[in-house]
Amino acid sequence: MHLCGPCSSPLAAVDSDPLGFSRLAVTGRPAWGEWLDTHTKVAMPFTKLGLSGALLRAVADQGYTIPTPIQARAIPAVLAGGDLLAGAQTGTGKTAGFVLPMLQRLSTKPSPHSATRKPVRALIVTPTRELAAQVEASVRTYGRHLKLTSTAVFGGVGLGPQTSQLRRGVDILVATPGRLLDHLHQRNVDLSRVEILVLDEADRMLDMGFLPDIKRILALLPRERQNLLFSATFSDEIKALADKLLNRPQTIEVAPRNSTVEAIAQRVHPVRRDQKSRLLAWLIGHHNWRQVLVFTRTKHGADKVVRSLQGDGIGAVALHGNKSQGQRTKALAEFKRGSVEVLVATDIAARGIDIDQLPHVVNYDLPNVPHDYVHRIGRTGRAGADGEAISLMCVDEYAFLRDIERLIKREIRREVIPGFEPDPNETPQKIFSKRSRPEAQGQRQSTDRRKRGAHSQNGRGSNGSTKRSSHKQGKKRGSDHARWVAAR
Ligand code: AMP
Repeated sequence: MHLCGPCSSPLAAVDSDPLGFSRLAVTGRPAWGEWLDTHTKVAMPFTKLGLSGALLRAVADQGYTIPTPIQARAIPAVLAGGDLLAGAQTGTGKTAGFVLPMLQRLSTKPSPHSATRKPVRALIVTPTRELAAQVEASVRTYGRHLKLTSTAVFGGVGLGPQTSQLRRGVDILVATPGRLLDHLHQRNVDLSRVEILVLDEADRMLDMGFLPDIKRILALLPRERQNLLFSATFSDEIKALADKLLNRPQTIEVAPRNSTVEAIAQRVHPVRRDQKSRLLAWLIGHHNWRQVLVFTRTKHGADKVVRSLQGDGIGAVALHGNKSQGQRTKALAEFKRGSVEVLVATDIAARGIDIDQLPHVVNYDLPNVPHDYVHRIGRTGRAGADGEAISLMCVDEYAFLRDIERLIKREIRREVIPGFEPDPNETPQKIFSKRSRPEAQGQRQSTDRRKRGAHSQNGRGSNGSTKRSSHKQGKKRGSDHARWVAAR
């Protein structure tokens, strides 16, 4: 029988499902806050997890006393040296769950000698720049009493400083796939001595079309290594990746905080397509909301909402893939500080952002990928705090709502706001087809390659094609959904 690490409650047997996917679905279990309420009496302290004094001191410096569920189970598993498949997302404490034992394993084993430069010993791959920066900051925080070095490489900033850092050598490298490949092509980094690989938010990396990049990176790693795969959701593609990548992994599931739909008040406001921005401004003003995260389906849509809110005298900034890294960092800082009330983001840009106790999330557009709804609303109601998730739904989005309700296994309350009634005669317009999603990944891939071509110093993409030819290639492949992915 398998037992829950921290609380020793029995878990279902997984014999017919060796990787444990059946236990990793979004199931509507309690979130971390509720979990702590019911489990703190039996939760073990950090001191019982087998971590060294230097790491325990770093944890204590952060004021952490009790490991989160993912930490209580992942830390001993990673320390034992085997592969790990973990179902957890941002907000569960997963970063410390892999960073702490990784630091311990690296610091207790002597560094392999290299005649040229210090080899990378641990590689953490993340889908977004924000997450890469956040994870590397955690590596520094938890490793502050150790001698290990780390750096993060991601796009949107110059290659130069990253190159110098890589050439000096680092123990732990945190990277987004595209930028890592750029550095690999320029021979700035050698991955042949990697001992531990982490794929963080693997589901999102596949959503963003990074699978071909990940395969290229995997091909450059040594055969003998420890693999840790973290994913919030488990599609067939993730299962296929886990099957290939992981060797007899331990499986760990913690409920994404957002699967606890009960903790979050959810409402759908049916509204006319052209009244959404007015309704959003009205809701913010009427309820006097001070901190709202608004999701739009596209980058263009995010900019439009920002302009409209600003026109209504509401402080708003956009966060999406067309913004420079500096703009993205600034937007997030302003929002966290409270100097603007509204952050309007696309799903991909918002992924990995850690904002505590966000009271309101608004789906300006309902997502056409139902899991995105779960990710989005999980930005609120953290650690047992009250949260509210509001969706503005026009006639084009009924099918999306149906898919979401099927996923979360409950109906979301509809509420028509007087003055913003939907028009029963409005005819639906097609948004994007969901079915063509997988083929979009190639498009995203070629878009990324194109971008990398633009970044690279010799004006050539990493596959050697000129910017112009890869542009043509990108143009050739056109599908609704490809456009949808590129628009995010
Ligand atoms: P993560 O899921 O790794 O992004 O972590 C989410 C947040 O939880 C971060 O702000 C961490 O600093 C915080 N955190 C991580 N572990 C603990 C812990 N054991 N106790 C309290 N807070 C924690």
